[in-house]
Amino acid sequence: MRVVFLFLWYNLIMKLHFFGATRIVTGSNYLLETGNAKILIDCGIFQGTRYVEEKNYEDFPFNPKEIDFLLVTHAHLDHIGRIPKLYKDGFRGKIFTTRPTKDFARIMLEDGLGIMEKEAKNLKREPLFTITDIEASLKLMEGIDYGQKIDLTPEVSCQFRDAGHILGSAIIEVWADGKKIVFSGDLGNPPVPLLKPTEFIDKADYIVIESTYGDRNHEAKKNRQDILENAIEDTAAKGGVLMIPAFALERTQELLYELNELVENHRIPQVPIFVDSPLAIKSLEIYKKYPDYYNKKATYLINSGDDLFKFPGLTFTETVEESKRINDIKPPKIIIAGSGMSTGGRILHHEIRYLPDPNSCLLIISYQVAGSLGRRVLDGEKEVKIFNETVPVRAEVKAVGAYSAHADQQGLYNWLVRFEEPAKRIFVVHGEEGPALALVQLIRDHLGIDASAPMLNEVVEL
Ligand code: ZN
Repeated sequence: MRVVFLFLWYNLIMKLHFFGATRIVTGSNYLLETGNAKILIDCGIFQGTRYVEEKNYEDFPFNPKEIDFLLVTHAHLDHIGRIPKLYKDGFRGKIFTTRPTKDFARIMLEDGLGIMEKEAKNLKREPLFTITDIEASLKLMEGIDYGQKIDLTPEVSCQFRDAGHILGSAIIEVWADGKKIVFSGDLGNPPVPLLKPTEFIDKADYIVIESTYGDRNHEAKKNRQDILENAIEDTAAKGGVLMIPAFALERTQELLYELNELVENHRIPQVPIFVDSPLAIKSLEIYKKYPDYYNKKATYLINSGDDLFKFPGLTFTETVEESKRINDIKPPKIIIAGSGMSTGGRILHHEIRYLPDPNSCLLIISYQVAGSLGRRVLDGEKEVKIFNETVPVRAEVKAVGAYSAHADQQGLYNWLVRFEEPAKRIFVVHGEEGPALALVQLIRDHLGIDASAPMLNEVVEL
């Protein structure tokens, strides 16, 4: 009898493991162990320094064969990048995510594999997974809608809500064994040009919240188009090149939306604009598939016949030859290319060429992970190495936080304030130590809720 009782009691304890994005922004991976199911939330890669990236090659700290479900917040690689490895290591459960995320996952993983294969070759090691693992893991993925409640087991259900971070991004609500846990995923920075605003959630026993900008606030959003306009006007006047490293997903599309407005209202001089990213071109096709995910203003513009991603002076360069031909166009010119943190991709070829030019400008519009080339240039390094070449940084370096896809400290706080009843506990993840601990302190001081920033592999009982 006592044994049975103990068994039942043990089964009622829920455990939450933090296997990534603990006091760093990448490698999101949490395991929720309920009485009868093991559910992973996100399975991303670690990015940044060599030391951090080494973790991608380690075995998972759990048995992938025992995982029943994987819930995916959005298609950035730091949230999905190890899914094929999870499959390769034995996972055969079901994956739920939104329909756009499912579509984006394919192109993001294929692109990631390309970069990884090159890296693996340099380091003389096997890549994390193969194209076969990508294909097979995508077959386990089911695309669902926001607000659609899914029963995973009789005791566990989940629902995805719009996070407003990138197209298809989600906050995930999980009801398990009579308790409710909310995973914020990456929270958006509304209002943004294309997406609907981040949804508020009214109830949770436990909250896992991101903290990328947990310690600071962005400039006022109304100024950001002016900053972009000024950067273009300055570079055009100096006859330089404006380089904008941009994530293929979302940032590029939002920039195009804003440039479309600046060009069509004749607010900027006529300068050729290049989108030099095959991945951005592919993701644009997915954007066009989901107009019902856009906000009212974007929908209105489309309905009135405006193609948001097409305007005079804009050229998409898909092939390597087309990309190389950008060099032949005399400045001034604007080049938007990946990767967003200058960790690879075509932007590096442009940076080698134009970072030494004092008339040119590097405009940084997104979060730069510690250790990335973008972060080092942003932090003021006067000389960097690109493809083993020493490149002096003489170009102007500007950063606009307001273009960020992430909520700032005020935005995170406002999202937490909208819960009707205080949660029992809040776990702060997906931020470097400073921002994460700043948000922890803010939550304790102003909301009076027990908060902490878990360490890697920490496990808590809920
Ligand atoms: Zn993200």
